[in-house]
Amino acid sequence: MTIIDSIERMSAFSDEARAKSLSIGFVPTMGALHEGHLSLARRSCSENDRTVVSIFVNPLQFGPREDLDRYPRDMEGDLAKLSSIRTDAVFAPAMEAMYNERFETHVIQENLSMMLCGVSRPTHFRGVLTVVLKLLNIVRPHRAYFGQKDYQQTVAIRRMARDLNIPVNIVVLPTVRERDGLAMSSRNRYLSDSERRDAVCLYRALTAGSELVRRGERSARVVVQKMRGVVENAPSARVDYLAAVDPDSLESREEISLPVALVGAVYVGATRLIDNVTVEE
Ligand code: AMP
Repeated sequence: MTIIDSIERMSAFSDEARAKSLSIGFVPTMGALHEGHLSLARRSCSENDRTVVSIFVNPLQFGPREDLDRYPRDMEGDLAKLSSIRTDAVFAPAMEAMYNERFETHVIQENLSMMLCGVSRPTHFRGVLTVVLKLLNIVRPHRAYFGQKDYQQTVAIRRMARDLNIPVNIVVLPTVRERDGLAMSSRNRYLSDSERRDAVCLYRALTAGSELVRRGERSARVVVQKMRGVVENAPSARVDYLAAVDPDSLESREEISLPVALVGAVYVGATRLIDNVTVEE
């Protein structure tokens, strides 16, 4: 496994692979890797000749009062995990290499980025899309892998790839969960023991909502109310949003039709967690 910190060397690695007609799979991450990240890397290894995983805590996607400074970092542990699953290259650029002092160009998605998570994190998706486009331009993969856990992010990235004709195949893989259903997340490390017990309320709420829909309930108000009730039962949890939305446009619906995505964000103590489930026909 080669560890690359320069943009030029990363591009040279991909040039070399492409010159030999080898396919490149790419998994962008912010590190503090868990089984969710590793599931993406494993799938990339099985579908491509070369797999590149990036580790870069992207300052652009954090708001001014968010957790950039204390976001978990564990480069040593991450490298050990990645080398055990046959990753070919880890791209870990320095902040200054990605954003020079005159950096000023961003990818802005007019509508999608202002919905759901965008309401409480208005600059988040601008930061995500900008760094993902930069990384895709540097790594030039044939396939890029993302987790369904960040549902709005997958919709935004697919839309960007389509809108800007980015020559990459976007692959979205299922959410990997803890035994009790909590979606794995680097931010779960912030939770105290009692918060960790409460944190599963989001998944329980989404499952309760999806059960209602499966049994025929079509009023989004009723389904959201049910989900809200489950979250409100957990003492340290507070709803940011819960919604039943169209899986592609992310628009909320009053009358649910299938397929539908049930999406939510909750604060557990000071930690903001997101999750989603989809209900198909
Ligand atoms: P992050 O490091 O949080 O930016 O996540 C990097 C990638 O891993 C994103 O595509 C996430 O959607 C994905 N990911 C994070 N958590 C999970 C999970 N529990 N299951 C599957 N994919 C995940």
